[in-house]
Amino acid sequence: MTSIQSNNCDTLILNATVFDGSGADGKVQDVAIKEDKIIAIGKLKTFSADQCVDATGLVLAPGFIDVHTHDDLEVFRNPDMLAKISQGITTVVVGNCGISAYPYTTHTAPPDPINLLGQETEFSFSTLAVYIHQLNATPSAVNVVALVGHTTLRAQVMADLNRPATPEEITAMTKLLRLALQQGAKGLSSGLAYKNANRAPTSEVLALSEELAEFDAIYTTHLRTEFDGILDALDEAFFIGKKANSPVVISHLKCAGKNNWGRAREVIRHVEQAQHSQEVACDCYPYHASSSTLDLSQVTKDFEIFITWSDPHPEAAGQTLAEIANHWQLSLYDAALKLQPAGAVYHGMDEKDVQAILSFPSSMIGSDGLPCDPHPHPRLWGSFPRVLGHYSRDLQLFPLAQAIHKMTGLSADTFKLGHRGFIKTDYFADLVLFDPLTIKDVADFSSPFEISQGIHAVWVNGQLSYQIDKNTIQPTRAGRFLAHNSAGDAK
Ligand SMILES: [Zn+2]
Repeated sequence: MTSIQSNNCDTLILNATVFDGSGADGKVQDVAIKEDKIIAIGKLKTFSADQCVDATGLVLAPGFIDVHTHDDLEVFRNPDMLAKISQGITTVVVGNCGISAYPYTTHTAPPDPINLLGQETEFSFSTLAVYIHQLNATPSAVNVVALVGHTTLRAQVMADLNRPATPEEITAMTKLLRLALQQGAKGLSSGLAYKNANRAPTSEVLALSEELAEFDAIYTTHLRTEFDGILDALDEAFFIGKKANSPVVISHLKCAGKNNWGRAREVIRHVEQAQHSQEVACDCYPYHASSSTLDLSQVTKDFEIFITWSDPHPEAAGQTLAEIANHWQLSLYDAALKLQPAGAVYHGMDEKDVQAILSFPSSMIGSDGLPCDPHPHPRLWGSFPRVLGHYSRDLQLFPLAQAIHKMTGLSADTFKLGHRGFIKTDYFADLVLFDPLTIKDVADFSSPFEISQGIHAVWVNGQLSYQIDKNTIQPTRAGRFLAHNSAGDAK
């Protein structure tokens, strides 16, 4: 360091093993934070600070970016976002799988799967700007990045979702999407597997996607199928991305269903082939069970289905579908029908496939947690520490530097988050300090609300927002809306 007269900063983190998010190995360094930025990295002996943190033996990484969430309304419902910040997450991407809370207003129960986000009364965002306004007025503990959901657009302009959109409806949806992109959305998401989007032909999604390139925005998709027809579903996503000239992110890439087990390598090869001619990435969560609404077409004896909620039968939550069917003396299908609308965890993946996709260099980590679930999949509270502890340290599936890259730099590059996702001078001070020897997910399928171990401190936009000794959030909720193509700061 050259000697500078005044080296005051707000926070000085000393002797941390700094992983900068690029995938490079850690180096013992000091990091200085002033206001919301990282102002220096190195041996900072000449610096003084209001707050000094001795980070000897601990890892300092960029704050984790949860690229796959359904936290659209959770940021208002529980603005402390303990499930996320306690994992080291400092930014959430909302609006995944074709469902976003905006642009959407309704006077009736939201259709499946928009109902995963919240209750009818919570949807009051006629435009993304209205959503951003509310977020700025009542910030949450984490930053928010917004995708616009194709199913939400359909639900806003179509009375009957069980058919393709008409040209007039496509025009109306395009107008809504364009406005949201102008207001700062990162891109369009689709959830073509869900029945309320499944009747949309490729041409409908493509017509919307053609708006993206002008805004340098991206297309993310919960594929039309993750079962036997997955390669064709991938081809549909690649076709849309290529025609629209937009990068593609495949959501929660997996091989679902017993017939499909063991196909991860083939699926990855298919993605790699597409990567020769277009930008494709994917996200995944570190568990071999999925979770969503209870889908009658996925009812099977092949694996366990666990009921997480049911509107007509709330007492069924916490039991398996087989137990409920047995109790009611019904077939699995008829029991599932009686539970509707309902939510479920499907133990329908092969662990080897999960590991292959986690290890794929183009996969980012996204929790896909469902915050409204009374008995959620443990991915909501445990995904990021599970990748760092269980998969990287304990199973040595990949080095720590790569695990961190999958939840920071790679995610920031893919989602084009300006000045975030890396520890660099002049970048926003979204940071997580954790113990690489003890980090561990604690939430499991029977106790899903447990706080992970080993996260020592989390800073969001330079503000200390979580500390291990309290397991509580600091009073500051320093999250911001991160508008697309802004400097990473909507304020
Ligand atoms: Zn999904």
